[in-house]
Amino acid sequence: MAHSWDNLTDEQWEKICKRCGKCCLITVQDEDTDEIYHTNVLCRYYDQQNKLCRIYEKRCQVVPECLKLTKDNVDKLPFMPQSCAYRRLFESDYTDKKWPSLNGRTVCETEIDLNNLEDYIVDWDDL
Ligand code: SF4
Ligand code: SF4
Repeated sequence: MAHSWDNLTDEQWEKICKRCGKCCLITVQDEDTDEIYHTNVLCRYYDQQNKLCRIYEKRCQVVPECLKLTKDNVDKLPFMPQSCAYRRLFESDYTDKKWPSLNGRTVCETEIDLNNLEDYIVDWDDL
């Protein structure tokens, strides 16, 4: 099936990202139900000030859970935040809805005991 993004260059594809960092929040998966929960814990490699991944080119090697979003998998990732620019693209929804930013709502994974990740699960329907 043809998609509106098929003919974008790699550069155009990368520029779609709003660098919000929401896909860099650590998720927790329920072992019994496979359900995925969002936490407000940010990956240690996300630079909040500059809104960039510090290890972008090698992110998938350093962080195995870090998923590379591509033209081939963009429409198969329902767990991405509702506000993700790529998700809005594949859902053909370009409404001007103002999504909240992460500012002041997160902690870095280096600041917490990762054994207690469940304590940081957040119900962010507006994520
Ligand atoms: S490695 Fe980079 S892109 Fe991947 S989750 Fe961490 S900060 Fe985000
Ligand atoms: S959630 Fe989407 S728009 Fe935000 S940083 Fe991740 S890929 Fe980019």
